[in-house]
Amino acid sequence: MDKLYTDLLAALGAKGVVQGSDVKTYLTDMQGFHSGSAEIVVRPASTEEVVSTVKICARHNVAIVPQAGNTGLCGGAVPAGEKPAVILSVARMNQILNIDPQCYAITVEAGVILQAVHDAANAVDRAFAMDWGARGSAMVGGGISTNGGGLNVLRYGTARDQVLGLEVVLPDGNVWNGLRALRKDASGYDLKQLFIGGEGTLGIITKACLKLHPLQPVDQSMLGEVADFERLNELFVLAREIGGDGLSAFELLPGEGVRRVPQVKPTISSPLETDAEWCILVRFSGRDPDQVESRLLAFFQQALDRDLLGNAIISQSIAQEDNLWHLRDEIPPEKLYEGKPIKWDVSVPIDRVTEFLEQAKHLVLNLRPQARFYAFGHIGDGNVHTIVFPGGGGGGGGDNDDSDLDQICTELYARMDELIWSFGGSICAEHGVGTENVDRLAGQKSETELQLMRAIKQLFDPEGRMNPGKLISM
Ligand SMILES: Cc1cc2nc3c(=O)[nH]c(=O)nc-3n(C[C@H](O)[C@H](O)[C@H](O)COP(=O)(O)OP(=O)(O)OC[C@H]3O[C@@H](n4cnc5c(N)ncnc54)[C@H](O)[C@@H]3O)c2cc1C
Repeated sequence: MDKLYTDLLAALGAKGVVQGSDVKTYLTDMQGFHSGSAEIVVRPASTEEVVSTVKICARHNVAIVPQAGNTGLCGGAVPAGEKPAVILSVARMNQILNIDPQCYAITVEAGVILQAVHDAANAVDRAFAMDWGARGSAMVGGGISTNGGGLNVLRYGTARDQVLGLEVVLPDGNVWNGLRALRKDASGYDLKQLFIGGEGTLGIITKACLKLHPLQPVDQSMLGEVADFERLNELFVLAREIGGDGLSAFELLPGEGVRRVPQVKPTISSPLETDAEWCILVRFSGRDPDQVESRLLAFFQQALDRDLLGNAIISQSIAQEDNLWHLRDEIPPEKLYEGKPIKWDVSVPIDRVTEFLEQAKHLVLNLRPQARFYAFGHIGDGNVHTIVFPGGGGGGGGDNDDSDLDQICTELYARMDELIWSFGGSICAEHGVGTENVDRLAGQKSETELQLMRAIKQLFDPEGRMNPGKLISM
């Protein structure tokens, strides 16, 4: 490691190499759920420095773990421990290189934080699609590598749909320059798609050209009680019919989360007094405030008339609108309850979400009556985050005893995964595979698909030096 450190220092300079106790902050993900070990972190400032790092690490037979904002939820950005590894942080590659409102495109380095792309786009009357709770820390390189989803998928699609072109440093140190802004290119295999959702296993994304969209500056949202859970899809279809392209989000929130967030986060005020089991947070967007409001009111009235909705509130100011979405950002239960949860990032066909949730809850509580079953998600994408606190999680439920977590985990994972697959669903809807889901993924994909994935990995990275232990087991 001493010689490796000296070589990296010579190539990248003191700002580009971290060693000793400063490495610690890079070894655990932001949520504190996954940790790994590494003695050196490199922080290249350019594509050329990434190339140098890749070549030096190859010479020393050391693996590379790419890291961006380290907000990933599946352990992808910390070393898995399979091989000695260096963490390569793209955080210093944080320049917006070009913004072209005429072509609705922006070109950025991989370490640009998502919020910075939003700010730059909004400043030229354009919108950027990739948006989720970690927008202030997650970076473009990480968002693309996990094929991030979030709040805007209903309107614009996932990260996969936002990328026009990429620049990637390959495991052999060559640079693939696919940094094009073309909307159409039918010239053969679309290589960039392999790196999107590739979790750094095929190369290091250094730059991206991303789509921008017309800005819809007016947002107005409604938080309401779901009156008839079995008819949730009818409520969603109604919102789509009335809102058209103006329906920008349709989120399912558990009533207990709506009640709990303001208790735990006093900066968020309670927008709706409710005893309901489920609520929806629906956002309509557009350029004309009157049109946005009249559509939202029409949706509210028709949903009420059809007995689909209970009590509801509609935001009447920017402060109220912001409060609703801050509440939404805090709905993930990890900070609301105690104990280590077991999580599923589920997608199922949109019209089967309620059926899935009912069966999943039944399954979990049959197996573990004291457990807390908690779910929320992006109904418009059929994506529900399903979380179980085996010991109840405190906060008024269960006995909070997680002592037999390992044993119960195995059975819960196996039975829930089977349930998800019986719906034709995925256990990796938007957070990726990382280390967390590698083994379980084998149950979701056919042997043919797994063999093709292994062949692709082998072609790009025959030495297995790029983010080993993630996404696919060789
Ligand atoms: C509060 C919170 C809310 C979230 N909500 C959502 C949500 O709604 N939807 C959603 O999809 N995700 C969500 N996430 C998960 C997370 O933000 C995303 O997975 C995000 O895409 C990770 O970005 P990052 O920059 O932090 O990447 P990291 O965590 O640093 O890395 C993620 C993966 O990408 C690889 N990688 C990073 N940079 C590169 C690069 N330049 N080249 C190649 N590979 C690279 C890493 O090796 C790792 O495998 C949430 C996370 C938090 C903490």
